Amino acid sequence: MKRTNDGGARRIVVISTGGTIASRWQGTGYAADASGDDVLATAPLPEGVTVEVVDLFNVNSSRMTSAHQLALLRTVHETFADPGVDGIVVTHGTDTLEETAFLLDLHHADSRPVVLTGAQRPFGTGDGDGPGNLYDALQVAASVRDLGVLVVFDGRVHAARGTVKTQTLAADAFSDPSAERLGRVGFSRVDIERQPERPAPLPLPAAARTAAPGAADAVPLPRVDIITHHSDGDPFLLNAAVSAGARGIVLVATGAGNATPEIAAAVAEAVARGVLVAVTTRVPAGPLAEIYTGGGAVDLVAAGALLTGTLRAGQARIALLSTLLAEGTTAAGDPARGTALLRRLLEGPVRAEPVLATGHSRSASAVAARA
Ligand code: ASP
Repeated sequence: MKRTNDGGARRIVVISTGGTIASRWQGTGYAADASGDDVLATAPLPEGVTVEVVDLFNVNSSRMTSAHQLALLRTVHETFADPGVDGIVVTHGTDTLEETAFLLDLHHADSRPVVLTGAQRPFGTGDGDGPGNLYDALQVAASVRDLGVLVVFDGRVHAARGTVKTQTLAADAFSDPSAERLGRVGFSRVDIERQPERPAPLPLPAAARTAAPGAADAVPLPRVDIITHHSDGDPFLLNAAVSAGARGIVLVATGAGNATPEIAAAVAEAVARGVLVAVTTRVPAGPLAEIYTGGGAVDLVAAGALLTGTLRAGQARIALLSTLLAEGTTAAGDPARGTALLRRLLEGPVRAEPVLATGHSRSASAVAARA
């Protein structure tokens, strides 16, 4: 379907992928079901906007796979091959939206925006938030340039990088707990308050070039696992991930990036076998920092792991995936290049926080080096 409001000077393509914004009652619970046209029909169009819809797939986003995400990445690149397109809106489930947004952002070299949005309440309900979020996303997509990939939700504009789902049910579902939002949208205005800092974009990976739109598992993709540390935590699951063929592991450590000496030893073994290991934290906000030994971040880094700055698990996993998919950076290719690229993708706009005063010069400089 194509819809136009007032001559439609700005041409926006909506790529529909499912999520609560497209979910209907199925008798026992909600599931993604409504077409992109139906979802678009719920929202008024901002003035001067023409919209075309692409129905790419229709899943709730806890079922999202890397194959889905690469098919979306490919579709975004194909859509922007048309110079007449001014922007893209992706409707997506909120559960893994931050992962898809970050993947698109890492490979986004176009000045035109990609805006992801969705809903916390289902399709077709009188009190739903989907129509308003979609309207806002269209308005942002028709208004901004050079901001990379964005998340627009509940009147807020967020950079893809660093943004996480922070509310299970509330309408303001997203934020970056370590940084300010980028801006606001509402009352017919888009106000951008700061620029996102993004690493130089990566080219489209070969796996995305061959991914068939809509395919859930067309190409064999590297396994990347996420393992959470906790009291009583041991290396069993980390070793199991290596045995299962993981080529990347995200260790969700405690505090500023700490685990145990046994886990640090398991990390060293995994790294020696060519596995890329990134360390993030269970704590919602703040940067990772090399402060503690005895299995802490000091030892995990010495074992060959990289700290993720302020990126949390889902996006750290995407950074690993993009690194492994980049030509010549695989374990079989050039592990040193892989480590260098992963470091570049992880090192983002981490704000130094005055958590370390005096007496910890090594740790303080580690934090400062990432600032
Ligand atoms: N479970 C849903 C999904 O991610 C939640 C949502 O879309 O808000 O698809």
